[in-house]
Amino acid sequence: MNKQHIETKCIQSGYKPRSGEPRVTPIAQSTTFFYETAQEAADLFDLKANGHMYSRISNPTVEVLEKKVADLEGGVGAVATSSGQAANLISILNITRAGQHILVSSFIYGGTFSLIDNTIRKMGIDISFFNPSQSEEEILKLARPETRLIFAETLTNPGTDVLDIEKISKIAKELDVPLIVDNTFPTPILCKPFEFGANIVTHSSTKYMDGHATSVGGVIVDGGNFNWENGKYPELTEEDKSYHGVVYTKDFGKAAYVTKARTQYIRDFGSYLSPMNAFLTNKGIETLHLRMERHSTNALYLAEFLQTHEKVSWVKYPFLKSDTNYELAQKYLKAGSGVLTFGVKGGRKAGIKLMDALELAAIVVHVADVRTCVLHPASMTHRQLSDQQLQEAGVSADLIRVSVGIENIEDIIQDFNQALNSL
Ligand SMILES: *Cc1c(COP(=O)(O)O)cnc(C)c1O
Repeated sequence: MNKQHIETKCIQSGYKPRSGEPRVTPIAQSTTFFYETAQEAADLFDLKANGHMYSRISNPTVEVLEKKVADLEGGVGAVATSSGQAANLISILNITRAGQHILVSSFIYGGTFSLIDNTIRKMGIDISFFNPSQSEEEILKLARPETRLIFAETLTNPGTDVLDIEKISKIAKELDVPLIVDNTFPTPILCKPFEFGANIVTHSSTKYMDGHATSVGGVIVDGGNFNWENGKYPELTEEDKSYHGVVYTKDFGKAAYVTKARTQYIRDFGSYLSPMNAFLTNKGIETLHLRMERHSTNALYLAEFLQTHEKVSWVKYPFLKSDTNYELAQKYLKAGSGVLTFGVKGGRKAGIKLMDALELAAIVVHVADVRTCVLHPASMTHRQLSDQQLQEAGVSADLIRVSVGIENIEDIIQDFNQALNSL
């Protein structure tokens, strides 16, 4: 295991050139790879040898990103996917099938909620949603003999609620099922879920990892810390007929889960990350540690400023001392990350006016890149809902989500100040 500090790993992990090779990870823009003998190719197909054969399953540039993210999280292996959605989908399907059941936090990104509640449900997998602030007993009551995993988000998008990872991991241990967490918003710079008992980590690398809004992508990281041989996961402990009788736990040990995800689902769904996007994401991660630090300090300054403004009715950010998530944030996060929400006095109308008055902060349906941007769900993503329906969805009509960029904080505050004063 690599003992370097995380800042060094952001830059150095995953790629070590030999004499005369490119200093920077090259883009292996090739669908396929050359072998001199039929035997070499056969060994690759049988998973007896390491190497690349086809860029739908693995690729040298993508592999650098996978090794780096696995190292940052402290996992035993990773596989990159074409999007965060693909990462979450495959992380679940890898160990569940029709007739089984999963426990899912209802405090998750809307896209993931829809993926699980509609698409995964249609595949015959039943779902119970829980509120992570419910008691252990209440959550345990939702479990069934056929429950196969728990899924949650470490820092929620857009609610900025912090998961009590140890509490949920204890429930998972009691049920003898793995805890999968989506760690997109903190990134491994601010939170390393394996240290608190999570077993699988997923990412939308589209967000802070890329960090410049250039590439959609995702990653699944295997903690290598779950015992799949407890009788519940025959797909990992019995022969895989689609792969020449491989038995993942026997042949790949701690990396059984992530190897199966790649050789079955990445292969079959064709949802692997492209070399170009891996290159750009990898470039992004080289400065991830610096950016997360600045995103977080800027967000805290803006949150503190907004709290003092008379046109603002409330501010939510996990590192504000007054925040309901403050204690959990202190325990699990090194800093608060770059997203905050606040309410503007005057509801939906005032929200729309504020959006129009902002100059530096752009209106985009994106978060977590270097540029400050804002979203007003009531007039944008949720505009078809009434105020009553918004309330039920946990999004008030006055809610503004800010993804605080890494511009100079004085310029960011000045922009919000002039826009609020114009109301
Ligand atoms: C954006 C996001 C996703 C989905 O990722 P895509 O890369 O857009 O597919 C999943 N989880 C979280 C927390 C996100 O913010």
